[in-house]
Amino acid sequence: METTVKQIRDCINELKDEIVEFTSRMISIPTVNPPGKNYGEIVRLFSEKLSRMGIDWQEIHVPKERLGELAPKGEDLPRSSIVGHWGEGEKEVHLHGHYDVVPAASAEQFHPRVSNGRLYGRGAADMKGGLAVILFTLQTLMKCETKLNGTLSFSFTPDEETGGTAGLKYLLDEGHINRNIMGVLDPEPSGGDIINGSRGALSFDVVFKGRPSHVMLQHLGVNAFEKMIEVADAFKVLRQEIEGRRTAYRTKPPEANRSTLLLGGLSGGGTNFNIVPDRAFFTVDRRFNPEEKIEDVKKELEERLSFFRQEGIEIETHVFQEGSASYTNEDEPLCQILSQVVGSVKGRKPEFFLCPGLLETRFFVETGIPAVIFGPGLLEEAHGPNEFVSIDDIFDCIEIFALTALELLGR
Ligand SMILES: [Zn+2]
Repeated sequence: METTVKQIRDCINELKDEIVEFTSRMISIPTVNPPGKNYGEIVRLFSEKLSRMGIDWQEIHVPKERLGELAPKGEDLPRSSIVGHWGEGEKEVHLHGHYDVVPAASAEQFHPRVSNGRLYGRGAADMKGGLAVILFTLQTLMKCETKLNGTLSFSFTPDEETGGTAGLKYLLDEGHINRNIMGVLDPEPSGGDIINGSRGALSFDVVFKGRPSHVMLQHLGVNAFEKMIEVADAFKVLRQEIEGRRTAYRTKPPEANRSTLLLGGLSGGGTNFNIVPDRAFFTVDRRFNPEEKIEDVKKELEERLSFFRQEGIEIETHVFQEGSASYTNEDEPLCQILSQVVGSVKGRKPEFFLCPGLLETRFFVETGIPAVIFGPGLLEEAHGPNEFVSIDDIFDCIEIFALTALELLGR
């Protein structure tokens, strides 16, 4: 017999208390990253839950000797992910989420509390509410004794907040996630709409060297600051050119559709007002739209720098963040079905939009797998001091994920 919408709703109704309780337990484990605290404890919570549910799962550890390279801010703390699946068959839909959270504004944020239908705490929206959606979508479908004509797989990973190299990227690189997935649903907070693309980023610092000298003997020094402003000026001209490029994709807000170059988010140097500065630096944060390739972005910046190097200016650069822009077409079955289901559950058709920040879905898209974000909570609340998630949004999202999986994997 086919599972019906009513059956799914009834199953979710019976699980409501457990869903809130489990989400609260996740929030109360401070999986703060950096550096990546208490990861072992939350992985234990997942593994106990999955085993109780009777689901196949596996824990994948990052080898000790690779921790320094894959998690440079991780203070050598252990890192592991959980992968698993339910159902059989070639067609596969994947549910993905990360379990690390950004540092809290106060320790209070790790004492979750419910008020006015909202669950408050660090990670409520980003994204322990989303992880509850994944786990309870599986539990709901199992409870309804749903027969899927395919596999529903999932992954819970660390380190999204610091780039995901030791988390999702490691799983994909090491072959722990199937490459033939039809699509990925990632329940990061999306405010009721669907995020089907994200901007790329290339962030680095530019360092200039000079020779120190006391102001009285300034002629013996080489002023690193003066070299820096020459180069920064050229980058400012480039910024104006870059800002002329706008994406054709929908952004929220619409004014965020420009390609950007942020100069001097951090800058500094020198040792004192009366000493010729022997060092100066500024940061460059380049955010680019899916129409631009990361190789071209690099080349454009590199050309400016090499011009000044040829002029004899010594320049060093250090990249600390790098990721391509990505986009999943709205015509993909994943997008179409999700959008229909959201419309029927919420009574309002969602919009598709491009997220101005870097998202983990890019790792899937880079390997050719369509991936979108739809999850409970608001993007703008995600890292804030009063982070919360609407409890009803979690329930609705479970219904949406269960129905989308049913549609994609043929009832
Ligand atoms: Zn997140």
